[in-house]
Amino acid sequence: MQTFADPAQLRHTPQFFLQRGQVRRNFEVPERAGALLAALHRMGLAPQEPGAATREALLTLHDAGYIDFLEGATRAWNGLQEHGPEAVANMHPSPEMLEQGAICPDSIIGRVGWYTADTACPIGPGTWEAAAGAAGVALAAADSVAQGGTAYALCRPPGHHAYAGRAGGHCYINNSALAAERLRAAGAAKVATLDIDAHHGNGTQGIFWQRADVLTLSVHGDPSGYYPWYVGHAGETGAGAGAGFNVNLPLARGTTDDTWLAAIDAAIARVQEFGADALVVPLGFDASEHEPLSFLSVSADGFARAAKKLAALNLPTVLVQEGGYAVEVIGGLLERFLNAWGR
Ligand SMILES: [Zn+2]
Repeated sequence: MQTFADPAQLRHTPQFFLQRGQVRRNFEVPERAGALLAALHRMGLAPQEPGAATREALLTLHDAGYIDFLEGATRAWNGLQEHGPEAVANMHPSPEMLEQGAICPDSIIGRVGWYTADTACPIGPGTWEAAAGAAGVALAAADSVAQGGTAYALCRPPGHHAYAGRAGGHCYINNSALAAERLRAAGAAKVATLDIDAHHGNGTQGIFWQRADVLTLSVHGDPSGYYPWYVGHAGETGAGAGAGFNVNLPLARGTTDDTWLAAIDAAIARVQEFGADALVVPLGFDASEHEPLSFLSVSADGFARAAKKLAALNLPTVLVQEGGYAVEVIGGLLERFLNAWGR
């Protein structure tokens, strides 16, 4: 198995996080990448460092205006008088405003609200470099499996909550979606993304919502009680040409191994029925029973069993790191997962 990472990912150090009205330190910390990297080295899987994604590669899925915003946000923010250390929105255009012709202004204050979905994606020094680095990692991993095999992309910040033109939930660039698109470009006629992060992969769903060539599946905590709150329900199945090509499998709070794995089995059956030529697994470890903001309760053994099931599809596969915030356990979970994958 080939692995990929980028040292620029350590330069993103988000501080701001708003939880139940309280400002807390953000838990999407550089130490997450450090723990995952240490696990790779323990396994003798030292990662390659492919470098940042090009603008052209990002624009295969992301909006040009959004990429310009991300790249220039910190400089513009630092030009404000009495600014805080990171760009965080204090207003977003409402659906009513958007329906009535809302326009994205030139002011960075208005632009941050336009291009972010929530307060969980602060933009500070190093954020752009880390996000572009993570995207480069996912794309290189996709390139490496174009002829078969499995690759692991150590991506930080994660990506599956990022839409084509909007950041959210610790995510800026949708690394998993870029990997899927790159596999399509490399010749896979049908690609499936099977997201096992504890949170719904809403950004990936949004990006492929109207497409039939990428089957988007997500196994996650029921959004009626968990981020991203508004979407991730079973009734969201795609639209237009993509109708029937989006699959959500929400699970109740406290779900343990057997029920979680049964949902993964159901998702795998859909991948087989679809006839995927390649697979992307947005791989979060926040379904762990040790997760600080735990909703699901999956054991290390459960993750190993999931890896075996997914590996048995025997498809060219990119494993793209998403969430997982229990720094002291995620390295061990990655080790269990990759060992169980076994090729
Ligand atoms: Zn997550």
